[in-house]
Amino acid sequence: MRLPHPLASTAGGIVAISKGMAAETSAPPAERPYAFAEPIDPLVRRVLARNPSPFTFTGTQSYVVGGEGSVAVIDPGPDEPEHLEALLATIGSAQLAAICCTHTHRDHSPAAAPLAARTGAPIIGCAPLTLEDDGPRADAAFDVSYRPDRVMADGESISGDGWTLIAVATPGHTSNHVCFALPESGVLFTGDHVMGWSTSVVSPPDGDMADYMASLARLYEREQDRVYFPAHGPAVEKPRQLVRGMIGHRKQRERQILRQIEAGRPRIADMVPQMYKGVDERLWPAAGRSVLAHLIDLEQRGAVARSGEEWKITG
Ligand SMILES: [Zn+2]
Repeated sequence: MRLPHPLASTAGGIVAISKGMAAETSAPPAERPYAFAEPIDPLVRRVLARNPSPFTFTGTQSYVVGGEGSVAVIDPGPDEPEHLEALLATIGSAQLAAICCTHTHRDHSPAAAPLAARTGAPIIGCAPLTLEDDGPRADAAFDVSYRPDRVMADGESISGDGWTLIAVATPGHTSNHVCFALPESGVLFTGDHVMGWSTSVVSPPDGDMADYMASLARLYEREQDRVYFPAHGPAVEKPRQLVRGMIGHRKQRERQILRQIEAGRPRIADMVPQMYKGVDERLWPAAGRSVLAHLIDLEQRGAVARSGEEWKITG
């Protein structure tokens, strides 16, 4: 479904943002157990890669789903020897039935190929990113070497001993993003679509804010998900509450952008320092991409128009 046009119902006012949502990011804890299999559900172990950054929080979290018989790995992460060995140790003597990627950013999928080479397991999950006629959608952040053996369309599933993974298409952060549901545990692996520690960057042209909002609305309608396990940051225990807050947060951002234009700041470069005061300045370029994503969405809905680098309100 599509969300209703937020500008069509201004009577509702600003949606309250929970305390945790007020900041764009929060600082990672000082110590994290890298290369360590942390049991977080009877069917799930979490392995943190040593790639912390302002964009990855404490690092990429790979998930090993299943027990002694057969397992799947979700988001194998960066191609780092320490992390690959930790995944292999966690898999142990179980059969690796599938290597699943939520999307092909470079902190998620590059270890898929070496893990497949070491185990013979198939790579199953998100689609590779296609190159468009109007130029490559993939930029430096993408893993263009990703080659899946099988793409999982929305609703398709794979299964092993006591577990099932169902693909939930969630484009927006990237065009090829999928979440994976584990119905036996009421878990949804959300990749970078929904994270508890930070809002997701939506960077055009591959990132699409209208798609992202529709994918948030889609998750909000899923009442069967008890907990989210994102690729970065802690588990989300009240997922629908968080998603509702995120939808409100994005609508608030949209109104903020319109107010920036009204206040005589028609360029993204002038809006970001106003809108992201107090946020780590290293994140401002990414924040600018998300502002652009909002503006493109507003433009497609006829609310703003672009002239070079400047935006004006038309709606
Ligand atoms: Zn990503």
